[in-house]
Amino acid sequence: MKITTCRFHVSATRPQDFPRDGRPQIAFMGRSNVGKSSLLNRLLGARGLARTSKDPGRTRAINFFSVNERLYFVDLPGYGYARVPDVVREQWRGIVDAYVAEPGCPDLAIHLVDSRHEPTDADRDLDAWLDGLGVRCLTVLTKIDKLSGNEKSRVLREAARRAGGHAPLAVSASTGDGIPALWRVIDEVCESETLRAAAGDGPGARAVIQGGRTIP
Ligand code: GDP
Repeated sequence: MKITTCRFHVSATRPQDFPRDGRPQIAFMGRSNVGKSSLLNRLLGARGLARTSKDPGRTRAINFFSVNERLYFVDLPGYGYARVPDVVREQWRGIVDAYVAEPGCPDLAIHLVDSRHEPTDADRDLDAWLDGLGVRCLTVLTKIDKLSGNEKSRVLREAARRAGGHAPLAVSASTGDGIPALWRVIDEVCESETLRAAAGDGPGARAVIQGGRTIP
């Protein structure tokens, strides 16, 4: 997809704030520091845009970016700070729960995992939770440029084993590696959601996407 316009849309702290205009919504989630802002900026070619999400007051909100006035990138607050008070963790669950409870939200959840680290319990919990809700989900390994060729092969093999044999996506916001492949998956989801909306159907049956393949 060629990006023509991209703008910050809204910082939602309550379900009333979520956009409900039927445009496809692609959500990004992962532990703090996983490289989410860098990846969003790289995908959008808009340096500093996703930093908006780090402004105080917006860090516990869901931030929506309108892309080409056609779809939304949805920046979910990071999780996994070891020492956050329970009340903050509850707030995260509260707003994110409310979001995924919306019909068809998101159309695709992109779960970011740092390629240098094993998935944590929080990562596994997130996968199981999304799976239980039937949310269409894609795991993407970040900062792949930090690995040597051998390490990269090993990490990709292990991630594929965890994902049941499907090739995972690996990206680098620094070098741009894997960005076109990730855009292809996003494009595919947007096309299918747009066609479904044009046909007057409701949100599609939720499915799992792994390594760019949709498994109905
Ligand atoms: P966020 O907290 O998930 O939004 O993470 P950031 O995008 O702020 O990135 C956290 C740190 O990782 C920053 O120092 C980034 O410069 C670095 N970083 C993010 N993506 C990459 C990447 O693809 N390659 C490398 N080498 N560093 C990255």
